[in-house]
Amino acid sequence: MKTRFLTASGLLAALATSAAAQNTPAPNDSAADPVATLVGRLDLARYKGTVTGLTQFGDRRQGTKRNRDAVDWIEQQLKSYGCTNTERIKYEYQAPPPRVLDSATRARLAAARARGAAAQGGGRIFGTRARTGVNTDSTRQPDPRIRALDTEQSSGTEREEVYCTKVGTTHPDEMYIVGGHMDGIGWGQAANDDGSGTALVMELARVFSSPDVQTDRSIRFVLWNNEETGLNGARAYVAQRQALQGKESPAGSGKYPEPKWLGMIQHDMMMWDHGMPRADGTLSPEQRPEADVNIEFQSASKMADEAQKLAWAFKTANEKYATDYPAQVGPHMTNTDSAPFQDIIPAISLRENERGAQIGGGWDPNWHQPTDVLSTYTDKDFRLGLNAAQTTLGAVATLTGARVNGVPVHK
Ligand SMILES: [Zn+2]
Repeated sequence: MKTRFLTASGLLAALATSAAAQNTPAPNDSAADPVATLVGRLDLARYKGTVTGLTQFGDRRQGTKRNRDAVDWIEQQLKSYGCTNTERIKYEYQAPPPRVLDSATRARLAAARARGAAAQGGGRIFGTRARTGVNTDSTRQPDPRIRALDTEQSSGTEREEVYCTKVGTTHPDEMYIVGGHMDGIGWGQAANDDGSGTALVMELARVFSSPDVQTDRSIRFVLWNNEETGLNGARAYVAQRQALQGKESPAGSGKYPEPKWLGMIQHDMMMWDHGMPRADGTLSPEQRPEADVNIEFQSASKMADEAQKLAWAFKTANEKYATDYPAQVGPHMTNTDSAPFQDIIPAISLRENERGAQIGGGWDPNWHQPTDVLSTYTDKDFRLGLNAAQTTLGAVATLTGARVNGVPVHK
């Protein structure tokens, strides 16, 4: 940044300018900025309502009826919002044989844990750590209704996931992909992991599908399945559709079944930022006042430079449009559905915490646990998810040239 030296008269002029600025509309004034109008169409009650709707299907574990019912319900909701061109990816998922660790491997992993430094995706874990893992014990779910709902185990190999698309007016052949994963595990309701990200994507589909909204470029809203088994739904999407990008079909129709991918933005665990575990391994029951949205790109990916640039655009959108919580950018995106895209296009993820160093260090005690249920979260938690929604909506609306009733974006 350039340093400016002000003379006395220059200082007075600058002060006068800043006084005048107080009388001009704030940057988020909706009369001046259609993106602010769109962000204003998000609210806490609707976001909570959509998370609540998803929890009616328990943990939505892949390969079960409750998962298939949830896919159907999501599709119905998208259509009811006006995102009527829903489609499905169909793919086969074969569960790998259970991994059995020999004693030497177990000892090596325990030693690495004791050293405690390296985080998944890069970086280091600092400070106090708490245990993490996936709950597989049904008796740890105290609510008999939820326990019954989560009882059916995965079977079969056919899987489906749903998406819908806002088609751009001037560049229908290019799009941003906005995603979250609708499947979960752990004998809870997968309210945060990842009802919170799924609801965010659905809420954005609702706002962008309003008949008075147009965008220059397209936006695809995807609700991945099989994230928890190894990003299999996102991998299936890339395998089936990467080669179709930018092709008009049928020829001369002006239709692009797979617009060229401009970027992929993933949302996975959006609500809980209560800080570092205490010395006894417990967490503060309150959202910390310093809570933030963590925007991550992967510095080891082939598209690191472009992904970083996309991340900063999201940081800017957060400062302009989020109402309560700031955003931070970090270089260690990992373990979510943006990973299969990271060497192909700019890919970022938004989360409640850094995945490797913080969630990996035990900062979310409900992660894959029976406590990942609606009643665990307060409005302060839901509000962090809402602020991530405001951030992505603001950024994507700006990047795609969104207009409301023909009023263009002011950049
Ligand atoms: Zn997740």
